[in-house]
Amino acid sequence: MALPANGAPVRSIVIVGGGFCGTTLATRLLQHPPAAPTRIVLVERQEQLGCGVAFAPHAYPYLLNVPAGRMSADSQDEGQLIRFARRRLPQVDGHSFLPRQLYGEYLRERLRLARLATPGWLHFESVRGEVSNVRSDAASGRLCVTIGQRTLLADQVVLACGDPGPAVPAYAADVAAHRAYVRDPYRDGAIAATDRAVLLIGAGLTMADVAVAGAARNPDLHIIAISRHGLLPRVQRATFQPVLASRVDLRNELTRPSARGLLSAVRTLIGTVENDGGDWREAITRVREVAPLLWQGLGEGERRRFLRHVRIYWDIHRHRMPPATAEQLEALRRNGQLQVRAGSVAQLCADGERLVALWRARGRFDLQELWVDRVIECSGLHQGVAGTADALWRQLLEEGVASMDSSGLGIRTTSYGALVDAAGHTATRLFYLGPMLRAQYWEATAVGELRQRVRELATVLAASLSEPLSGPSVRATVTSHSKAVRAGSAQRTTA
Ligand SMILES: Cc1cc2nc3c(=O)[nH]c(=O)nc-3n(C[C@H](O)[C@H](O)[C@H](O)COP(=O)(O)OP(=O)(O)OC[C@H]3O[C@@H](n4cnc5c(N)ncnc54)[C@H](O)[C@@H]3O)c2cc1C
Repeated sequence: MALPANGAPVRSIVIVGGGFCGTTLATRLLQHPPAAPTRIVLVERQEQLGCGVAFAPHAYPYLLNVPAGRMSADSQDEGQLIRFARRRLPQVDGHSFLPRQLYGEYLRERLRLARLATPGWLHFESVRGEVSNVRSDAASGRLCVTIGQRTLLADQVVLACGDPGPAVPAYAADVAAHRAYVRDPYRDGAIAATDRAVLLIGAGLTMADVAVAGAARNPDLHIIAISRHGLLPRVQRATFQPVLASRVDLRNELTRPSARGLLSAVRTLIGTVENDGGDWREAITRVREVAPLLWQGLGEGERRRFLRHVRIYWDIHRHRMPPATAEQLEALRRNGQLQVRAGSVAQLCADGERLVALWRARGRFDLQELWVDRVIECSGLHQGVAGTADALWRQLLEEGVASMDSSGLGIRTTSYGALVDAAGHTATRLFYLGPMLRAQYWEATAVGELRQRVRELATVLAASLSEPLSGPSVRATVTSHSKAVRAGSAQRTTA
């Protein structure tokens, strides 16, 4: 990674993780490259790029929960995914809910096309492997990325490695290694054809996926889902007639210093939309557009209050089921195959091949017992980074290179994704891109938001990698970047 043939110095950027964010960032950098010779290395531990947790191939054809017309990876070309999908499925239109696996193929195709058009001064390489640590290299002043036995020196490193796998919950400590306890809900064969009863922990979109896939594999399956509130996600709609003027800026109307005030303002907005004959989903979409500002307007205590009391209501309205999944889930509930309970699991114990769940119904103290063939964690990945077993995140946190945000949602970053270390210094070479940006933006999970973050970071990186080697750092580049990107709070900067 030293010098190209013509002797010009080469900068290098290593992207850790080739899911949606890593693949889309690499694509964007190839399409809008730095002006100087640059080497881009995309490191992914899975066999295929573009999959991550969401878009991997599975035996069951899981669906996207957003219609194709709103899932383009390029916000400047909303028809891109539809055009790609029509090559396989000619009847697709903007209202179609596509298979998630097809979306992974679309991301790979975008990268492939961008590589074909790569200018000669860019070198792209994808590496299969797991990054175990990222450290400063004192001798070169660059970052040293360890992938198994191999190390790469990089000028910039982007951690696009998604949400780290959550820690084993305390209630599952005794059964963590039991074959009937399943931590990866999307593992093919997680539900065996011989299972009669399964417990799904969580009642959100993951539970819906696992329940419909499990019932398709095993039509006699009895499914019990337990979550704190026992509330199911609402149903997505491909389209609705907007009633709010598109140019109305809702920031002032919705900004409140308290979680309670915010909830009330959102309820009022929903009421306004419905009174005008509209659909409540429009109000949620409009709130989502300004969610980062609303979130940043809440103090620490109010954020905690929001997470404790309001989050569940936001989540079930915001993260909605594709209509086909909702219909299947409803059919399972109607015929008694699926029961959803409000409560919490206190402990899981082994009973030979089976598991016993001790659980408490919401508002009660007594424990109930439930014997099942399988327990599947469906409570989602987004539980913060605390206690994770992921080697890379443990190293970054233990060495203080990364730090958790105070609400425990994700990690501390600036508005353009630069990591903030344990001492409060902003990294100049190390960035995070992905759903843990929720600590900064609140809404940072879906393609609609993440593609914006990809564009912003790609612009910052391309500009900083284009500077002369003795030129200003990323920090200086950022000062000339757009106001939106600069909106984050001021932090001290490392050298
Ligand atoms: C099941 C599911 C369905 C979803 N459906 C939708 C939808 O329909 N519409 C929508 O808008 N959004 C959807 N989302 C949300 C959104 O698209 C994802 O959150 C998004 O894919 C996140 O992308 P990412 O690249 O940050 O993380 P991921 O997709 O998780 O990718 C991270 C990648 O990094 C790799 N990695 C991690 N650590 C290392 C390491 N140390 N070394 C090397 N590689 C590493 C992983 O193998 C993985 O491939 C869904 C999310 C999930 C989980």
